[in-house]
This record gives sequence, structure tokens and C-alpha cells, in this order.
Amino acid sequence: MTFDELGLSPNTLKAVAESGYTEPTPIQAGAIPKVLQREDVLGIAQTGTGKTASFTLPMIDILSQGKAKARMPRSLIIEPTRELAAQVAENFEKYGKYHRLNMALLIGGVSFGDQDKALMRGVDVLIATPGRLLDQYDRGKILMSGVQLLVIDEADRMLDMGFIPDIERIFKMTPFTRQTLFFSATMPTEIKRIVDTFLHNPARVEVARPAETAKTVSQYLLSLKSNDPKTKRAKLRQILTQDGLKNAILFCNRKRDVDIVAKSLTQNGINAAPIHGDLNQSVRTETLERFKSGDVTVLVASDVAARGLDIPDVSHVVNFDVPFHAEDYVHRIGRTGRAGRKGTSITIATPVDAKALAAVTEMLGKPIPAYQQDVAEQKPVTTEPSKPKTTRREPKKSRPVKAAKQPEPVSRPATPVTTKTNTSGAGFAGNVPDFFLKD
Ligand code: AMP
Repeated sequence: MTFDELGLSPNTLKAVAESGYTEPTPIQAGAIPKVLQREDVLGIAQTGTGKTASFTLPMIDILSQGKAKARMPRSLIIEPTRELAAQVAENFEKYGKYHRLNMALLIGGVSFGDQDKALMRGVDVLIATPGRLLDQYDRGKILMSGVQLLVIDEADRMLDMGFIPDIERIFKMTPFTRQTLFFSATMPTEIKRIVDTFLHNPARVEVARPAETAKTVSQYLLSLKSNDPKTKRAKLRQILTQDGLKNAILFCNRKRDVDIVAKSLTQNGINAAPIHGDLNQSVRTETLERFKSGDVTVLVASDVAARGLDIPDVSHVVNFDVPFHAEDYVHRIGRTGRAGRKGTSITIATPVDAKALAAVTEMLGKPIPAYQQDVAEQKPVTTEPSKPKTTRREPKKSRPVKAAKQPEPVSRPATPVTTKTNTSGAGFAGNVPDFFLKD
């Protein structure tokens, strides 16, 4: 199938062609014609499947007719995190470049004044996180009566983050006649209830998990016998100084560990920066940009960065701990091996991770091969950025890392495990870990 067969306008097709996409992904082929026919759509798809374009492309065409009034957005897109909201905005800019649509982002960490000005101008597309949207609504800054199109993205993630009451409120605030596009990677009972309550006879488009992402990621496990954080950080430094590591996203389960680990790495001469929900938005945005441009080599992140962030060229993902929820493992390692590139993931596990590791192993259907660092692969640590594109900021001067103790040189297993296409699908209902971001 080609994009020409989907019913999109010539201007939108031109922008798509300029993005270099030749063929629609399955979620795009399934959803775009339905959206253009103004049907409600239930998309069961996770990030990496091209789902963002499956709603942004037809929305651009639908919204190209008509004009926005002050404070009355014509469409509303709800995203669980600020980063995802910003990514959707980038999509609108890219694909909507031959249209004149006004867009505004309503996310935490950005001044109310600037957002208010944007709303006053009238917006065709409002992209928001639930908390900030409801704040502005409660202050009387937004009227929902003009919303013709409502998109709820990453609904199961919203469930994890405790946003479901907010989502129900948003549904009730928008006109009954709106068109709803609803996306979720899994369908736990609570999500199904929302769909049954608020969507009108939706077209269901379900696509498989992007297995190719997993296939391109070689996964390894480094088991430590001790829970001692210092030993763990020393091992981490060995991992991060191996040859072939161009850059890495390093995940910690807890925000406080993100800060501690980032600081420890920096002090040891590794070019690292933290990103998590307690940092203000401008810092988070700048850090992401610096990582994308190569100014930062190791992005130390909480799970807020695990879902959906689309950074095409990440050589390694390192799990500083085994994620609390097995499915987060898939999201984390999916940050590498993108766009057909090869990637490596290394998960550090200590005795306290035993239960979480058992859950991951069960989900994968086989154990993760042991990681053994060959000392010959070690390279000297440098604070130089891996790809110094900009001179925006000098990396901090730090003392070089001491040579690590020599581990037994053992070669890597030949067949690393790859994730199954269908994981448990159990969702995350229940305990909400404190590291999840709430705007
Ligand atoms: P998403 O699932 O929306 O996060 O998209 C994942 C990645 O796929 C992004 O880098 C998109 O730019 C890319 N993408 C979206 N649609 C296509 C397509 N039809 N062909 C190739 N890549 C695409």
C-alpha cells in the first residue's frame, strides 16, 4: 500500500514524502482512512509503530477547513508526559508545514502567561498533559465546546500514572458529538471501560508490537551478588567505558537514584546528565537536545523517558535496576536498536531485583544471557562529547576514571535473547511507583 491510497490531501502527502516515508505502517494504513471518514478509532498500538502520524496526518487535513476562535481549541490531544506532548507537536510542525494550523502546547513547567496568550490567539490543535489542561480549564482560560476531535494517546500509561479520573473529566467536558481517537498499547479492564463508555462504535485497529525493534537489540544481564550501591556504580562505569558505546540511556527506577548516578558518573569523568520529572521543563528539554546532538553521552533517566521518546541513534540502553514492571523493560530497551540499527541493552541486577527479574524473564520466555565485559574492550574515559556538533556548552571538566579492576575476559554469548512479539499485555493496574511523572 502507498500513502496515496489513504485519502490524504496533496499538501500532506508532499510533507510525508519529504519526511522520507514511502509506505504507511500498519497502524497508519488502518487508522488514517477511518479518521478521514470521521469515525471514532480505537488504536491498539505502542510507540514505534508510527501511531503518531496515524492521527496527526488526517487531523491536519480535517482541520485545514475552518478557523479557530479565541480560547476554543478545535482539537485536543492528551499525552501522559511533557516529552511526548512536545514530540507530537514536532510531528504537527513536520507534517503540517504546507498548512496553516495554529498549535499550542499546554504542559507543566511552561509559564501560564505564554500559554494563555497562545490560547487567546485561537488554536486548531491543542496538545496537553491532563494536569495542566485541567488547571487552565478551571481558571476559565479554555472553553471545550469547540472541540471536534479528541485524541487520547498512551491511555494505559495514563492509567499507570493515575490520570484516568482526569481523562474521564476531559471526556465529559468535550462535546458529545466530537470524534475520538484513542490509543493504548494494552487494554486492561479499566481502559476497556473508558472505551465502552466514551467512544461511539469505534473502528478497532490493532497492530503487533514492533518486533523488529526488539530483534535488533542484543540483551545482556549483569548479575551482582551484592546490593552495595558503590559496587553497582563501579560496574556501571565499566559498562559505560566499553568500546562500541557511542551513547547510552541509563534507566533508574527512582528519581533520587537518577540524580545520584548522574552526579557520580560526572565526577568520574563520564559525560552524563540527568532527566526526570522533578527537573523543570526547560532543563529537561535542553538536556534532551544535548543528548540528541551528542553533547551529552549518557542520559540518566527515570521511566518518564522510557516511553515514546524517539531518538534514532542510541547505541546502548543500560538498566541500573530491573524495572518494577516487566513491560517497562520492553519500553526501555526499545530506546535503542531503532530504525533498523543495532543496539545493546545491559541490565544490572542485584539480589533486591530478584522478583522483578523473574517477571522480566517470564515475560521474555527465556533468561537474558549473562554479560561479561571483556577488558580488552575498555576504552579510556573522556569528557569529550561523542559527536560535538554544537559549542553551546563545554562539558564539565572532571577527573578521569581510574582503570577498573580486570574482570575475567569471557566472550559474549552468540545468541542474545530478543523479546517476544506479544508480551503479557497485563498492563500496570495497581501499584503506581513514585517515579512516574505527574504533571
Ligand atoms: P511513533 O510510533 O509515532 O513514535 O513513530 C516511530 C517512528 O517511526 C518515528 O521516528 C517516525 O518518524 C517513524 N515513522 C512514522 N511513520 C513512518 C513510516 N510510514 N515509515 C517509516 N517511518 C515512519
